[in-house]
Amino acid sequence: MKVCTRCVLPETYPGIEFDENGVCNFCTAYDVKAEAEAGSRFANEAEVIAALQKYKNLGRKYDLLVPLSGGVDSCFTLIRIVEKLGLKPMVFHSDHGWDDPIATRNVEKLCKELDIDLLIWKNDMQFMRTLFKYFNESDDYTVSPCYPCGNMLYLNGLEIADSFNIPLVINGYSKGQAAMMHDKDKAQDWYGRMINVILETGDQEFFEKFTKKWEMLKKQVIYTSKEDLKKPVNPDKLLFIPFFVFKFYKTDKEELQKICRDRFDWQPLKEGFPARTTNCEMIWLNSYRDLNKRKYTHYHDEYSTIIRAGEMTREQALADLELNPPPGLLERLAEEIGVDLNDLK
Ligand SMILES: [Zn+2]
Repeated sequence: MKVCTRCVLPETYPGIEFDENGVCNFCTAYDVKAEAEAGSRFANEAEVIAALQKYKNLGRKYDLLVPLSGGVDSCFTLIRIVEKLGLKPMVFHSDHGWDDPIATRNVEKLCKELDIDLLIWKNDMQFMRTLFKYFNESDDYTVSPCYPCGNMLYLNGLEIADSFNIPLVINGYSKGQAAMMHDKDKAQDWYGRMINVILETGDQEFFEKFTKKWEMLKKQVIYTSKEDLKKPVNPDKLLFIPFFVFKFYKTDKEELQKICRDRFDWQPLKEGFPARTTNCEMIWLNSYRDLNKRKYTHYHDEYSTIIRAGEMTREQALADLELNPPPGLLERLAEEIGVDLNDLK
């Protein structure tokens, strides 16, 4: 199978074309766009800190919400937000049923260390099982089952921020995920595909629950450039900022792991996919299905953007994206959500 020589996208990726050097059109387009966008970024950390000061002392209990996975990236960012920005956060951790207890423990330990309020959101398990079943069984292979799940967890954040009257959410989505979120046409297209997957099941009740969750989206504003932070606080909207606007956010995981270990005894998961991440178990099954059906996972997409940004080597990405599930895990997960593992081959 042909794979881009610069990123990790394969020939099965929708709309991909390769030039004479085997470089894909997404890599070529990225260089042009990155140059155009350079002026819209903060020059240094002091600028970011200054821009965020208006979120202090708004008379609210919390200045911002920080969703925390328990991975080093989000943990490290939270430490810096508290210590460098002086903002008062509330932390929220999503446990949708297949979270590793080590990840939850990391979140608890860090919040204790920093004296921060923590809210753990446990999702309706029946809803999540159904979601994974429908999207794993769907024959629209362009939609990874991780995608609707990720959206649900993201919408949990919006719902919590809204109910606690918190105007700002600083979220750990990566440059790769941001590239997907900023592409409005793509987001709209994916929403349509997800709706189709659900409609085809004929499950009206699930359809209503799923679409109702989406209503919260109209309250959000996604950060696209530093101009978004220069505007006055809009009391009726929730601004979402990615971690990577901060210069202190790095993708050098080894370094971040050491800092987090020393600070609050952070522990890595025993096994995760992609390697070296703190992710849920269901990603193994979803990625197994995606790799079998379309030869790439959504992480191939995300990591390709990170490679283009110069924050990860292609070799490292390829190594991390090798799928070697622990014995028996896929069978157990398939059984839990009621799908036949043979159908995902
Ligand atoms: Zn490429």
